[in-house]
Amino acid sequence: MSRVLVVEDESHLAEGLRFNLEAEGYQVETVDTGEAALERLNVEPAFDVLILDVMLPGKDGFGVMTEMRQSGFLVPTLMLTARGHSDDVLRGFEAGADDYLTKPFDLAILIARIGGLLRRRNWLQPPAPRKPDDVFTFGVDHDKWVNFDSLELWVRNQVFRLTLMEANLLRFMIEHEGKPVSRKNMLQKVWSLQEDTDTRPIDNFIVRLRRYLEDDPKTPKHLITVRGVGYQFVATPA
Ligand code: CA
Repeated sequence: MSRVLVVEDESHLAEGLRFNLEAEGYQVETVDTGEAALERLNVEPAFDVLILDVMLPGKDGFGVMTEMRQSGFLVPTLMLTARGHSDDVLRGFEAGADDYLTKPFDLAILIARIGGLLRRRNWLQPPAPRKPDDVFTFGVDHDKWVNFDSLELWVRNQVFRLTLMEANLLRFMIEHEGKPVSRKNMLQKVWSLQEDTDTRPIDNFIVRLRRYLEDDPKTPKHLITVRGVGYQFVATPA
């Protein structure tokens, strides 16, 4: 039975989620503050999915998300954001969220998204020997590769776990290998956000990816800046 932790301070919504998720066969716990969520995550057994509201008293959803990921909790997380706050969506992904829904949401969609995140949970199991099927290799010596199934980025002997959004952005850049990609384009195609959104979080994502895959993140060779446009991925730097 999959275990879901719901972090939501509006009790009618939290109880509604519990009722409906239990009806779907999930085991559900609810907490109403970010602090309680972080405490709860430290106690076994672990949860399979987290539903995290952004607007919480005290530590908000972004703070919880950031702290969780920094502490190494990789539990797949769906954030609940307010409608019309597309900056929040980007901020959530930046903090390490895997998916989001805007309130008010359709329950059937929420349940479908949880199913999607549970499939992701299987990717987080310790790597077992298996045939990698969605792998892209790059680097002058072909010594870097990203596995889009397991969300692992291998740089020589080092492995980095990517968040779903880091992987989606990297995939998008790889698909446009050798061509400049604008921030606006990334926002629309990777995050499904329209313009009028602050594009600076994209730069933060790029900085993070560079830290993983560049030999010297200060002089990037794979994720290069195209002044006035955005970024360009180069698989085999000259
Ligand atoms: Ca709330």
